Amino acid sequence: MHDDPPSGTATAAAGRLTQDLASVAEARAALLAGLVRLGSESVGLGLALGRILAEDVLAGTDLPGTDNSSMDGYAVAARDVVRATVEAPVTLQIGGESRAGAPPSAHLPGTATIIATGAPLPCGADAVVPVEQTRRAASAVTILAPATAGDFVRRRGEDAPAGTVLARTGDRLRSVDIGVCAAAGRGQVNVARRPRVALISTGDELVAPGTPPLPHQVTDINGAMLSAAVSEAGGIPIVVGVIRDDAQATTRALEEASAAADLIVSSAGVSMGGHDHVRECVAALGSVDLWKVAMRPGKPLVIGRVGTTPFIGLPGNPVSSAVTFLLFARPAILALQGATQLLPAAFPVVLAESFAKPASLEMFVRVRLHTEGDSLAAVSSGGQGSGMMRALGDADGLAILPAGVGNVPAGATVQAIALP
Ligand code: AMP
Ligand code: MG
Repeated sequence: MHDDPPSGTATAAAGRLTQDLASVAEARAALLAGLVRLGSESVGLGLALGRILAEDVLAGTDLPGTDNSSMDGYAVAARDVVRATVEAPVTLQIGGESRAGAPPSAHLPGTATIIATGAPLPCGADAVVPVEQTRRAASAVTILAPATAGDFVRRRGEDAPAGTVLARTGDRLRSVDIGVCAAAGRGQVNVARRPRVALISTGDELVAPGTPPLPHQVTDINGAMLSAAVSEAGGIPIVVGVIRDDAQATTRALEEASAAADLIVSSAGVSMGGHDHVRECVAALGSVDLWKVAMRPGKPLVIGRVGTTPFIGLPGNPVSSAVTFLLFARPAILALQGATQLLPAAFPVVLAESFAKPASLEMFVRVRLHTEGDSLAAVSSGGQGSGMMRALGDADGLAILPAGVGNVPAGATVQAIALP
């Protein structure tokens, strides 16, 4: 596919995007448009957490499957106790018992059937009197409050009739959704295959986390962080590792990644430096469709292909890597799985301080959030330099300062997203 000459429209779009700088939304749309959804597989509920549903899950039976009691107490025919009060109680003989897990028993008129929460309502009874509204003697029970038909009864199908859609294709399964699938009667569900995401860190200065760096060296923060972020997005990280700033080594790593993965994510080596080889190597093996996005942090982002494998080149500064992963790579990994929701939900926050910014860029500032009156207030979580990890770790989320406006004053309301 990458060998085909691009259409006139695509060339024009790519040209415009690389010259004028694409907006975050434009760049993401271009990235997502080039992705092909992966197939699905059936997994047990124990392995389904965080996976994306590849089918609608329907209630297999009426939920609940039969009329049953919502309280421990006594099943009665309401007409037998319709006038019971503390002053004028009604005493009924115990006629039987309905236990959870036992099929419905028969209820004799004029008697009370002992019933447990969740036990089937016996045939002939139409209400339950909770234990708290009764006084028990050996073989009889005195009812101290009136009952109306339907009291403390969960009706068959009242939660969901058989066939109701309970979870939808594209939903990301939370623990509660696993419960919903179980309620639907499912032990297995069809979910999207997990995308294999190859991770390449580039840079001669990098040493593995845990290896004390010499003063001129830098710990490979991105490798560990992005691997975790891939897992969080439902992908399988394939760690290619640290690649030196060398065109041949970069080419070999990209070829290896392309053979093994559904998506390649690299970090660093995408700027203007003489030792930044990633772009030229990707272009030689496939295509660079977009370079540079009108954002801070993260401007020198690359979107392209290595062979037919989609490629995202994140900037090297770790905060830029984290932010561009969240805004581009994570949506791509979720889109490969057919997820409905690709981005964290945005919500309004009031800036507690002013932020300086160039009008040309959309800015993503690390903030802490707290409630103030009826709104959420956002305060900078610390130094906003794109290499400064401390404020990233201290952040609850990112406040989004839109392109097209310059400095944003304190008191302004902007959108924010939480860090997943
Ligand atoms: P580059 O885009 O290669 O010029 O890298 C930009 C900055 O990010 C430099 O200060 C690099 O040392 C730093 N950097 C690059 N890769 C990583 C990484 N994997 N972990 C932490 N910092 C990195
Ligand atoms: Mg570098």
